[in-house]
Amino acid sequence: MKFKIHMIDVKNQLQNYIWLLEHTVSGEVVVIDPTEASLVEHYCTEHQLKISQIWLTHWHKDHTGGVPTLLLNRNIAVYGPREELSKVPFISHPLQDKAHITFHDLQVDIIAVPGHTLGHIVYFIDALDVLFCGDTLFAMGCGRVFEGTYEQMYHSLNRLAALPARTQVYCTHEYTLANAQFALHVEADNLALQQRYEDVKAQRMLGQSTLPSTIALELETNPFLRVESVAEFQRLRQLKDNF
Ligand SMILES: [Zn+2]
Repeated sequence: MKFKIHMIDVKNQLQNYIWLLEHTVSGEVVVIDPTEASLVEHYCTEHQLKISQIWLTHWHKDHTGGVPTLLLNRNIAVYGPREELSKVPFISHPLQDKAHITFHDLQVDIIAVPGHTLGHIVYFIDALDVLFCGDTLFAMGCGRVFEGTYEQMYHSLNRLAALPARTQVYCTHEYTLANAQFALHVEADNLALQQRYEDVKAQRMLGQSTLPSTIALELETNPFLRVESVAEFQRLRQLKDNF
């Protein structure tokens, strides 16, 4: 395997993960949504990795805060949403829906998923069955609708749900246990969900990450992918906001 994914657990209050995609032949990495710089720098020094690209999903500080420091004295291409350039001026390669970028010989497809923020994008790598989805899709949950409409977010989630079932889903936060509790609240009879809740509880007891998920698993256990209309989605999302 020429590529390897690393996880940095930021251990902050928001429970961010910073994902790194390594090209193992060269030791070059992509850093996805660097919350802060020092953890990334320490990790890369320790593992002899060289940062060549940064991919940003949206402008929120816990996804972009580390970028300015990482750019000091380094030549790094910064990819991110064109729609959010005014908020993230250090993006060197602005991206829109259906754009393609490359990292070594990997092709990466950009999908625009407005809703959580207006410009939110995700990075899908067909050859690896990998999705870096920021704050749009979470294990058994989804991001809050801050800037877009419920209709936009519903459509965005449907686009992700339509990706191949085997796709591994790398979300940015460890919200899984709380999401599972809400999911069970609205789908108490879902056997796959009951089982997953037990699995996730055990993982968290051991201090393990519950990610990545898969599209297949989300289709079975994520109530936000199982609603059938915008109205139903909105009702569910608002219920979760106040849960
Ligand atoms: Zn966010």
